[in-house]
Amino acid sequence: MRKPIIAGNWKMFKTLDESVAFVKELAPQLAPFSSVERVVCPTYIALAAVADVLKDTEIGVGAQSLHWEEQGAYTSQISPTMLVGLAQYVIIGHSECRAYLNETDETVNKKVKAALAHGLKPIIAVGESLAQNEAGETETFVSGQVRAALDGIDATSMENIVMAYEPIWAIGTGKNASGEIANTIISKIRATLADLYGKDVADSVRIQYGGSVKPGNMAEYMSQPDIDGALVGGASLKVDDFTKLIEIAAAEKGA
Ligand code: PEP
Repeated sequence: MRKPIIAGNWKMFKTLDESVAFVKELAPQLAPFSSVERVVCPTYIALAAVADVLKDTEIGVGAQSLHWEEQGAYTSQISPTMLVGLAQYVIIGHSECRAYLNETDETVNKKVKAALAHGLKPIIAVGESLAQNEAGETETFVSGQVRAALDGIDATSMENIVMAYEPIWAIGTGKNASGEIANTIISKIRATLADLYGKDVADSVRIQYGGSVKPGNMAEYMSQPDIDGALVGGASLKVDDFTKLIEIAAAEKGA
């Protein structure tokens, strides 16, 4: 059985002090829901302090990206070795990084390999644009992104990888894919994984939905058989909303 995983992507929100205050308030609220894996992904600058607050809890910490090199002349970048000890997870391939920060399928693949080599678990985000969606290209495009991200990754590494289907048109827009549609695309992602690694591996990989997930629509996603959690932006910035999402995931999917 796949343990549900809900990750909050804080994007470029919250100062250091706000981040610390937030997780101090959040941690006790999330403590009861151990049937759900709970992860927060603060900004780089808050990672160490947030990790310190959460060190004796079951709440995991994720970074929002990384560079693939261990060190070097890459101004503004953060390497995998710098994240070790602070984060267990790292989001790779978020559509905002693809759109604004020159993230490509090739850099996603390099980052996935670098993360795995340093014991960090990638949350790999894939998803189509509105134009691709309207042109009926979603399945082909998303499947291509999955194959490119996982190029050269062996089957044994898949236990450390989480996939996230995030249709670009649904991120931060208030528009969301219906639970049924999200489940259909996620089942196609699983079929791509089965093609690459076999059915047993595909059935063991957790695949999240992301895109305007809120307490009001969470149950619709969590009741779908192929959706194993959510990658959440806006609703992860409020203690009550994020707690509610975890509570719903535990009720729908928890053991
Ligand atoms: C995201 O940042 O990955 C995301 C899905 O954002 P939102 O929940 O705000 O749409």
